[in-house]
This record gives sequence, structure tokens and C-alpha cells, in this order.
Amino acid sequence: MNRRYLTTPIYYATGDPHLGHAYTTVLTDTLARYYRQTGAEVRFLTGTDEHGQKMQETAAKKGLAPIELADQMAKSFEAAWKDLNISFDRFIRTTEPEHIGVVRAFLERLWSKGQIYDDVYSGWYCVQEERYWTEREVGADRICPDCKRPVEFVEEKNYFFRMSDYQERLIQHIEDHPDWIVPVTRRNEILGFLKKPLQDLSISRPKSRLSWGVTLPFDPDHVCYVWVDALINYVTASGLLDPDGGPDQPGFTDPGNSWWPASLHVMGKDILTTHAVYWPTLLMAAGLPLPKQILAHGWWVMGDQKMAKSVGNVVDPLALREDYGTDGVRWYLLRDMPTGSDASYTPQRFQARYDELANVLGNLASRAISMIVKYRDGIIPEAAGAGLDVEIESTLSAVTEHMDALRVHDAMAAAMDLARTANGYVDRREPWAQAKDPSRAEDLDETLASLARVLTVLTALFLPATPEKMTALASQLGLKSVPTFEEARSISLGGLRVEKGTPLFPRPDQ
Ligand SMILES: [Zn+2]
Repeated sequence: MNRRYLTTPIYYATGDPHLGHAYTTVLTDTLARYYRQTGAEVRFLTGTDEHGQKMQETAAKKGLAPIELADQMAKSFEAAWKDLNISFDRFIRTTEPEHIGVVRAFLERLWSKGQIYDDVYSGWYCVQEERYWTEREVGADRICPDCKRPVEFVEEKNYFFRMSDYQERLIQHIEDHPDWIVPVTRRNEILGFLKKPLQDLSISRPKSRLSWGVTLPFDPDHVCYVWVDALINYVTASGLLDPDGGPDQPGFTDPGNSWWPASLHVMGKDILTTHAVYWPTLLMAAGLPLPKQILAHGWWVMGDQKMAKSVGNVVDPLALREDYGTDGVRWYLLRDMPTGSDASYTPQRFQARYDELANVLGNLASRAISMIVKYRDGIIPEAAGAGLDVEIESTLSAVTEHMDALRVHDAMAAAMDLARTANGYVDRREPWAQAKDPSRAEDLDETLASLARVLTVLTALFLPATPEKMTALASQLGLKSVPTFEEARSISLGGLRVEKGTPLFPRPDQ
């Protein structure tokens, strides 16, 4: 059985979801829906990261307990993902008892294998980011190089993970698996980072300073560093580890029964190092398999600011959902950003991508269905003839190839090209002329049957990006649901009754 376990990062629960979170999540959702379309069994994980100093401080500022803030934000993220039609199977929260149990069992496993030691740390610390910095990094001004806040001098006991022991093995893994980190520019960045000696990783914070975290199983006065806690969520949700296993029983269940290892971790490029260095070395030390692939995507840049001003405050494409619908926004995000690179948002580019949906795909659906209603009383005719079969087959192959290579934008372009070709087919066949001549009834049947077939395939191809509209289109075609790629190849449509619906991609001013 083909199984895929896909993850987004768990998002830090101090602020509301924004475009960056939304893009990662829509991208992962599109891949998850694609794999389901190809017949795979899919597990799609997302969630919220709820421990750490920032949570403790943000909650205090709002007069809330940390768990109250976490409850609010988890609801806010879940609601945002419902709005964007995200088909996650599991929403994990790091404050769940199951996850806390798994973090403790994971750390216990490292501890019993001698992978963690204690030492005194003395140096500079940024409270905001829970990060240690060296003398040189903070400079004479004693300022955090990342957030520019003043750092504190601390001298405290700390637990360290022997990350440096795994440097060579990690480099070897990356070199042996050229597609492990996608795209290649990000892979090269990590290899560059690994040219410098890797330090051991501090994995604890003293409770005297920070109490909102997972208590270490081997020292009740310390909590786990929030990043280590967060990364382990991928294992928790896989079911690999039984938290009740106890210290002598590492508690790992039969790997065959779990979803581990993940097929793909998706994230923004800003958190690639934690996923491509900290996480795999922690897994190596725990004796667990590594995720099969890591995709680090780029950032949305807010285009030409002058332009944005002239059209009002609409600089956030998520706000365009009201006018263009969820699928219009999803389509834009997937189609316009080359997967892995940065892209720039402008209202003009958004409009151009939406026009493509409306004028190419929407127009094809509307004219084909109208003609079946007009010329054949709404019944899709049975007809011989190859129609667009060659184009359909080559598009299915191209989309599969692009999606499997994580080039989602190329897959979208290929699917749209098929709709464009089908519009050309209508113009060439001139069904309105065929309809006027009774001796050409068979030709007309062939034209209409071919159009119904290509539309059916298009529902399958576009479903990952625009699920709501493709479900509506399938229903207009008389289908119970959107077919998988395999079903779309051989589905029999003759005799189905189509129904005209509202336009799939209406003009916002209509
Ligand atoms: Zn900082």
C-alpha cells in the first residue's frame, strides 16, 4: 500500500495565522490531496507549538495563563485552516498529555544511550528567542543579533545533546540522497552550514527562569528546549512511540504499525536548519529512521508597495478570499510561486491568475455544459473517437511528474494548458455548426463526449488546488464525486445528466 505521511511545522501559538503559515499549509494540503488522488493512503499533520518563554510572556501580558492563550490560538489556527479548506487528518498541540509523554520517552532514550550530558553554560541569552549567543555574536552593545533586543548574561546548569558527534553522518546522508532537501539551493545552504564544526545543542532551560515546558525525565528542575519539544511532534503523531513505555522500556512500538518515517516535512526556509540539522541528528541519536524528504519553500514579498497603496489596504492576499473565494486564493498561491523560490505579491498578478481560472477553466466548463444541455437535452452522449485522449494522457503524466518532483506550480501550469487546449478543440470543431447539420450528429456526439471527458479529467487534476470548485464541477457533470487520476482515465460518462450551475469563478463585482 502506498502510504504518505506529510507534515507542516507546528505554528507558534503567540500570534494569529498569517500569509506565511497559510502558504505552507495550503502547499502541504495540495500535496496531500494530490497523493489521495493517486490512490495513496495519506496522513496529514498540522498543529500548534505551545510551550516556551514567548508563550509564557505573551500570556502574562494578556493576563492569561499560558494554557488559556494556547487554547485560544489553537482554535484560531484550526478555524483558519477550515476557512482555507485544509484537509488535515490530525491537529496536534504540544500541551497534549500524549505529546508530553512522547517527548519525555524520547529524551529518556537519548539519556540512557549517553547522548545527553550536563554542563555549566555561561554566556549571553536572548529571553525573547530562548537562544544562547556567543560574546562575539552579541558584540560590544550586548544586543541579540536576531531580534536586536538586549541580551542577559547567564551562568546556569544546562543539558546538552551530542549533536557534534553526528556531523559526518549527516553530511554523508545529504550527499547520498541528493533529493533529501528540496530545492537544491537550500540543500547547498545546509551543506555550507555543515562546513563549520557543529556545536552540541543545549536542550534544556532551568525552571527558575522558564517553567512553561516539558519537564526533563532525568531532572525535575529543567524543562525541554522548546524547539526540541516541537520537533518531536512529528514522531508523536506518527504513533511510533508509546509514551507509557517507561524508562527501561523505551516504548517504541513496531515501526510497521506507525506512520514513521515521515514522507515529507514542509516548511519555510527560515526554519530549515532546525529541520535539516537538529532534527535528523536527534533521530540518529535515538536510533530512528530519518524523514524521507524535506521541502523548504520561499517567502511572499509584498510586491510594489506603491501599487498596493493605490488599491487600498489590500496587501494581504488572504483578505481577497471574500471577493475571490478560497479557491481563487489557493490557486494564486500555488500557481504564482515557483515551489521553493520567493515570489512577489501584487494585485495585478493576483488578478491575472484569477482571470486564467475564470476565462480558461471556468469558460470551458460553462460552454461545454451549456452545449450538452442545448443540443442533447443535458445527457452526455455515448460516442466513439479519440477526442483529446492523447492530450489527456500526456497531461496526466506531466502533472504526476511535476507533483512527484514537488514542482507544484509546473503541475498547475500543465493542468491549465489542458483546459486551454480543450477551448481550442471547441473552436476547431465548431459544435454550433455541427448542430445545424443533422448529417453531422455523430460528430457532434463525439465533440460533446470529448468535452465531458476532458472536464472530468480536469476536475481530478485541479482538485488538489481548488477542491471546492472541482467538487461543484463534478456535480454539474452528474458525477457523485471527483474521480482519482486512475478512475478519470477510464470513467464512463455516456448517459449521465449534466446540470448548469452558477459560474465557477465569477467576477467579484457580479
Ligand atoms: Zn533575540
